[in-house]
Amino acid sequence: MGKIILTGDRPTGRLHVGHYVGSLRRRVELQNSGEYEKTFIMIADAQALTDNIENPEKVRQNIVEVALDYLSCGLDPEKSTLFIQSQIPELCELTFYYMDLVTVSRLQRNPTVKSEIQMRNFEASIPVGFFTYPISQAADITAFKATTVPVGEDQLPMIEQTREIVRKFNSVYSEVLVEPEVLLPENQACMRLPGIDGKAKMSKSLGNCIYLSDTADEVKKKIMSMYTDPTHIQVSDPGHIEGNTVFTYLDAFCRPEHFERYLKDYSCLDELKAHYQRGGLGDVKVKRFLNSVLEETLEPIRARRKEFEKDIPEVYRILKKGSEAAREVAAQTLSEVKDAMKINYFSDEELIRAQSEKYSRSE
Ligand code: ATP
Ligand code: MG
Repeated sequence: MGKIILTGDRPTGRLHVGHYVGSLRRRVELQNSGEYEKTFIMIADAQALTDNIENPEKVRQNIVEVALDYLSCGLDPEKSTLFIQSQIPELCELTFYYMDLVTVSRLQRNPTVKSEIQMRNFEASIPVGFFTYPISQAADITAFKATTVPVGEDQLPMIEQTREIVRKFNSVYSEVLVEPEVLLPENQACMRLPGIDGKAKMSKSLGNCIYLSDTADEVKKKIMSMYTDPTHIQVSDPGHIEGNTVFTYLDAFCRPEHFERYLKDYSCLDELKAHYQRGGLGDVKVKRFLNSVLEETLEPIRARRKEFEKDIPEVYRILKKGSEAAREVAAQTLSEVKDAMKINYFSDEELIRAQSEKYSRSE
C-alpha cells in the first residue's frame, strides 16, 4: 500500500510563518515529490470550535483565510485533497467508538492538552470536547489511513495518542487501522518557531505572529520590534544567540545564498553569529537581513494570494469538492471499522441466520 499524508490546521486565524516552517513548507514538497499516493489537508473547524464555542463566526470566517493561505503556499487541489473537517460526519462516528479505547487519566497526562489547557486558562471549566480532542484527531488521521503526519513538535503527543488507539483497536478487533508516523521539521527552530515577543511558540492564540498574508510593511515593523538579547545594549557589546528570536528565525529561513544576495560581508550564518557574539554587530543590521530573507519567501506567497482572492467562490468550490472526495474515503474506513466491531447487523447474514436457527431449535 502506498504512503498517505494527513495533516491540517485550525481555522482560528490566518496562517503564520510558524505554520510555514513547521508544516506547510514540507507539505508542499511532499505533495510535489510524487512519493505519496494521496495527500489530505484538513481545515479543522470542528476542533477549533472546541475552544471557541463563544466565537463561531471567527471559525467560519477563517476557513477561507486558511484555504487562501494553503493555495498561495502551493498546495494544489489537483494533487492534494483540501477539505473541511465538519463536513465529514464519519469522523464523529469514529471518534465516538475510539472514546471507549482511551482512559480519562491517559487524556489528562497528554502534555499538549495539559499545556493548551494552561494557555487558555481553562482550569476547571474545560469543555469535554476540548479535553477529548486527541481522540477526534486520531479519528481524522485514521479515517484516511494516513501513514505520515507532517506537523510541528507540539503535536508529537497527539500522534503518540493516535498510535496507541490504533494498536488497541487492531488488537481488540482486527487489523483495520494504520499506525501513522510523525514527520517533524528538519531543525529545532522550525519545530517550534517562537513568537516575535520571544515567547516559546508563535501561536494565533497568543497574538505574536508574522502572518503569511501580512504586507511587506507589516512584516518589517514586526521584525524591527522583535525580541533579541536584552543584554546587548551597545553595538559593541557581546551578544547572545540562544533565545534571540532574530537568530532563531534565521535558523529557520536563512540559506547560504542569502548572504551572497543581501549581506556580502559574511559567507554563512555561523560567521554572522560569531560576530554578534564577539560584539560589534548591531541588532538593526541583523534585522534588516532577516527582513530581506523573509521577504524572499513571503513575496511570492503574497502575490499568489492576491490572484486567488479574485475568485473566492472558486475557493469554496475547491473545498466542497475536496470534502466530497474525503468523505468517500472516510466512509469506507468507517464501514471497515464497524465490520471489525461487528456493528454491521443488517449486512451480517450469518448473524441473522444463526439467530433464527437458535429460535427455530427452541420451538
Ligand atoms: P492555535 O493557537 O489556534 O492552536 P496554532 O497557531 O497553534 O493555533 P494550529 O492550527 O494549532 O496553529 O497548528 C497547525 C500546525 O502548525 C501544527 O502542525 C502545528 O504543529 C504547526 N505549528 C503551529 N505553530 C507552530 C510554530 N510556532 N512552530 C512550528 N510549527 C507550528
Ligand atoms: Mg495549536
